[in-house]
Amino acid sequence: MAVKEMLIGCNSEATSHCTLDYPYGFKLRCQRREWLEYKPNHGYRFVTQTSNPKKPSKWVVCDTCNGSGYIMLAVLGHPGRQTVCVCCNGNGQVEELVWNAPKASTYVTLAAMYIDEQGHVQWAGLHMYSTVAEIDAFVSTYREGLSEDAGKIAGFMRAVAEEIESRRAKFIIQPSEPVRVL
Ligand SMILES: [Zn+2]
Repeated sequence: MAVKEMLIGCNSEATSHCTLDYPYGFKLRCQRREWLEYKPNHGYRFVTQTSNPKKPSKWVVCDTCNGSGYIMLAVLGHPGRQTVCVCCNGNGQVEELVWNAPKASTYVTLAAMYIDEQGHVQWAGLHMYSTVAEIDAFVSTYREGLSEDAGKIAGFMRAVAEEIESRRAKFIIQPSEPVRVL
């Protein structure tokens, strides 16, 4: 899958990416949140959470405009200008969806999340047995989406993999023909 855009900083429900139009069963559509959760000593996992289109959503007072439907836009040094609230489109209320329980993948050592060329959210991960070649490919493909910490983890993983591979290279055991003693 080719990367169109890396998703950065989506590490919890609150900071998740949201796919606004996602299939729900055969006929229905829903919204889907996606994020990469990090847990020390466990690693990363890809979490998704769909809204439930079968349960009625609630309309709640818009936080941004306090229900008035209008906000004041002010530029420093200029009088403010009243404008339609961007969050509720002047409605004064916003739709609050009912969300299903989140679903999570198994943990991997390092992960990156991105939007592919079809506009779909994808993710990729490395595990503790990833090879130097796999780690290098991962870092060069997802570099933009890796935090400073993730970059450090990748560097550490690479050093370990390199060590393992160099040791393995020293002790290659191969079948051989019986040695003929003349
Ligand atoms: Zn509003």
